[in-house]
Amino acid sequence: MKIHLIRSPEYSTEDLTKVYELLNSFKGPMKFEMNDHVFDKKDFYFLNYDLYPHHNFKFDSDKKKKTFIKELGYPLSFEELFSLCDSFRKRFRIRKNDFVVLITNRFNSLNWFSHCNADKNAFIHAAEWEKFYIKAHHKHPVAYQVIENVLQNLMEVESLEGYNEYVHYHVRGCINDFCKDKREVILKLRTADICGSCFKRIEEKKIPFDITDQVFQILEGLRTQFLFNKKVNRVSIPYSIYIDEDNKLLIPQLGNMELKLEPILSTLYILFLLNPEGIKAIDLSKHNSKLKYIYKFLNPNVIPEQVRTSINELTDYENGSFSQKKAKINRKIKSLLGDTRAQDFLISGRPGQPFRINLQLENMDINF
Ligand SMILES: [Zn+2]
Repeated sequence: MKIHLIRSPEYSTEDLTKVYELLNSFKGPMKFEMNDHVFDKKDFYFLNYDLYPHHNFKFDSDKKKKTFIKELGYPLSFEELFSLCDSFRKRFRIRKNDFVVLITNRFNSLNWFSHCNADKNAFIHAAEWEKFYIKAHHKHPVAYQVIENVLQNLMEVESLEGYNEYVHYHVRGCINDFCKDKREVILKLRTADICGSCFKRIEEKKIPFDITDQVFQILEGLRTQFLFNKKVNRVSIPYSIYIDEDNKLLIPQLGNMELKLEPILSTLYILFLLNPEGIKAIDLSKHNSKLKYIYKFLNPNVIPEQVRTSINELTDYENGSFSQKKAKINRKIKSLLGDTRAQDFLISGRPGQPFRINLQLENMDINF
């Protein structure tokens, strides 16, 4: 399988070469090829951006993606970018199963960082990485996105109805996270991970082992190189926690580090995650039915009598059970993360006031 890397005219040959050399240093069934073909601006009017300054390639912010509404079809600039790939395919007689990846500095009308269509044509937006996000060359995030788009196409994450569940709208640190912000691409680059459900999909789709092996080698290599040069701007990514299909509490920003707690402690912790405004110790018993539900969800085999006893004991204000359990959770978090990094994860507050956890709720994948 070949992956042809091409460029739009404003993206330099030197930069394309850097991305190509980086990817080509990882050997396997995916063969990277670079072609320095220059598209003729006479054939593609939109490439004369000095003549068409208001053409909707132009987008005023690099910070956020806009929502893609499938019913409206691909926006104009997507079609145009893919038309460059198609013309390259015809001219150089590229086989159907090979990928053509256009690297471009042009903004597109949804401000997406990359996209691959069903015909295995992809574009990667390469501008402004160094300006805002990293001090090193942008080749690492761009190379990462080449691999991401190839893998997503092989996994068939997109159908006529739009994306399926293998594209994650909540950050997990998985290659298939839908990144709304470029800092989230950096996060993926740093975690170099593929989550459990995506792995199952890779098996279902029978993607050959030697391809996934090469994908992992590349992700791991990009990660190591990227972190090694230590030129990443200190962008603060808010921490979050999600629960995977095995009910593990995982921190995606720390390479899916697990916060291991016994079930009753997990139950209490999740209740606080679900109530970011905080809960007073004396009000805990108001959440009895929710706590029972979570406890049962985490331990499907537990008998109802035990659920009742454990939760009633936990929320009994008189017996001090909450304070003990809270202290136990916080000790566990500090020993896992160290005192400084633990701060966002602790259940904190003053006696008589609401206790809370300072993690962002929007990043959570929990559906209780
Ligand atoms: Zn995933």
